[in-house]
Amino acid sequence: MDIFLFIDIYFAVTFTLLGIVIGSFLNVVIYRTPAGRKFSTGRSMCMTCGHELAAKDLVPLFSWLFLRGKCRYCKAPIASRYAKIESFTGAVFLLSAITHLECSWFLTDYTNTLLLLFFFDYLLFVIACAAAIAAMMIHYDTRKSFFRVTGFVIVPAILSKVIWCFMSMRDKTVMDLLRDLLFLLIYIAGTVLVCFLLSKLFGKEYTRNDLYLDMTFVPLLTFTLFTGVIYTWLTVSVYAVVYGVARAILKGRNGDRYTGIASFLFVVILIIIRYFITR
Ligand SMILES: [Zn+2]
Repeated sequence: MDIFLFIDIYFAVTFTLLGIVIGSFLNVVIYRTPAGRKFSTGRSMCMTCGHELAAKDLVPLFSWLFLRGKCRYCKAPIASRYAKIESFTGAVFLLSAITHLECSWFLTDYTNTLLLLFFFDYLLFVIACAAAIAAMMIHYDTRKSFFRVTGFVIVPAILSKVIWCFMSMRDKTVMDLLRDLLFLLIYIAGTVLVCFLLSKLFGKEYTRNDLYLDMTFVPLLTFTLFTGVIYTWLTVSVYAVVYGVARAILKGRNGDRYTGIASFLFVVILIIIRYFITR
């Protein structure tokens, strides 16, 4: 087998498995954050019989599949929701690995500073993805958004922008940097404007919590498609229209779910198109 292909596959598989593990952690975050409980302490137990769960019951996704969705001790069915969030996070990580295949080179040459920066940027990206999933689910469950979670999306996105500015500084003139900065400012202003217009468009049904949620998706998208400002603008504009229409058609709690799925599919399609364009 071609060694380069092997490294890419290894990278994709590793990050998919990591995604499933992170998804398991997100289940705890989604469940405990609204209740105001710490998600680092306390043991997991069966919701029905209260039996403390052993390590073999806690292998993300695989325990659920192996036990066929039932508690090992009392045989009560375990909600498929946990396994769904774990597989969804795994799928997001797989997609992120496919779109960041250049980062796989870090595995063979970890002394290269440029590859290190690529890889660090990629890690920030997956943190933002995980936080967006948690924010989306908490919002879906409670109709409340939590800045603690959404902050994890916005902060990595800004850090990533700083890294890219820093990386490209050497080949750029002062004028180029100023132009980039101007584009970035206009972009941020545009993002806030789109969210504000959405809030006006949906009036009473659009709460401040919805606004927070919408604002987490935009930096995430920027992050996914950091190939160029124009391309990002185009993407965000199309995305805002798709999202707005989906929101208008599907109102209420179920609407949140389908809007999330529609947005996710939109990103998937873009990733596939980008993959074939850049190949
Ligand atoms: Zn049980």
